[in-house]
Amino acid sequence: MHGGPHEARLASVQALAAANGIDAVLITPGPDLRYLVGYDAVPLERLTCLVIPADGDPVLVAPRLELLAAQASPIGDLGLAIRSWGESDDPYALVASLIPRAATVALDNHMWAEKVLALRTALPSAAQTLAGPVISHLRMRKDATEVAALLAAGDAIDRVHAAVPELLRAGRTEREVGAQISELILDEGHVRVDFIIVGSGPNGASPHHEVSDRVLKQGDVVVVDIGGTMPDGYRSDCTRTYAIGQPSPEFVDHYAVLLQAQQTAVAWARAGVTCASVDAAARTVLSDAGLGDLFIHRTGHGIGLETHEEPYIVSGNDTVLDEGMAFSIEPGFYVEGMFGARIEDIVIATADGVLVANHQTHDLVVV
Ligand code: ZN
Ligand code: ZN
Repeated sequence: MHGGPHEARLASVQALAAANGIDAVLITPGPDLRYLVGYDAVPLERLTCLVIPADGDPVLVAPRLELLAAQASPIGDLGLAIRSWGESDDPYALVASLIPRAATVALDNHMWAEKVLALRTALPSAAQTLAGPVISHLRMRKDATEVAALLAAGDAIDRVHAAVPELLRAGRTEREVGAQISELILDEGHVRVDFIIVGSGPNGASPHHEVSDRVLKQGDVVVVDIGGTMPDGYRSDCTRTYAIGQPSPEFVDHYAVLLQAQQTAVAWARAGVTCASVDAAARTVLSDAGLGDLFIHRTGHGIGLETHEEPYIVSGNDTVLDEGMAFSIEPGFYVEGMFGARIEDIVIATADGVLVANHQTHDLVVV
């Protein structure tokens, strides 16, 4: 094989597998396959499976009709062996024939259940375990190319947020605003819209509200949380909170505390501190102001080739942040029937702080 990030990643998986008593790692289409070999395969009922023995050369098992697509991906440059199968062949038997003595196989966390069970039948003496811990150990730590990709995704979603104030007008529905945001996400360089939350008024109190036919009106606070996928597969995710006309003094007071909570957590985060401590940094500010009960979710999640991946910034997660770990810092407060607010940036841990991927103003934007 010819070097580059994919060869190094495969070698790392093999070393981690060996160290964890895993004889082979089996990866089906999804973010892990894309991360390891650059192949953005479509998940289908026909089996495509990267077989990575702890000891030996990795092999891609792929349907014959997908062969050209696989060869056209970075797999072609990697020099990875491809074993194709025809419509009447048994691809699970083919996988089993490649790792006949495997006692423990680690399966892609995203593998479809029907494939997991077919592999159990094809490899009856092999114990199955999850590949997630091995793969996420690598995927959590972004290299320089991945950091640049996340910063570019941040710039792209920042440009969308810059245009949001002019879309928020009393009389329009959340759905209308969301449709325009969707176009902007694509116009600004993403290849896919992953989610659009336009939570106006009481809908803002539901953190994962999407859009509805509710009509925006004067005095509404609007939570806008949006993200998409860039051509290289890396994701954006950014929340800003807007107000249509001056909101209530109660909301303004709460928002000032939220801003302080978010900025405190951003200032605290760095390599060497735990995920739980970053959550606590944000939560303590809200709790000290009597708003702790209104912050009903974790402070953040890792991001990369998936919008939600490890590390999770949550109480109880004693994972120590390492340089290159990328995650959101997104505290909020939610008052049922009234309003909600959230401020979210993507950050990347460095030795002495974080790189921040999002730069639109964190202040409440009154339109
Ligand atoms: Zn978000
Ligand atoms: Zn998020």
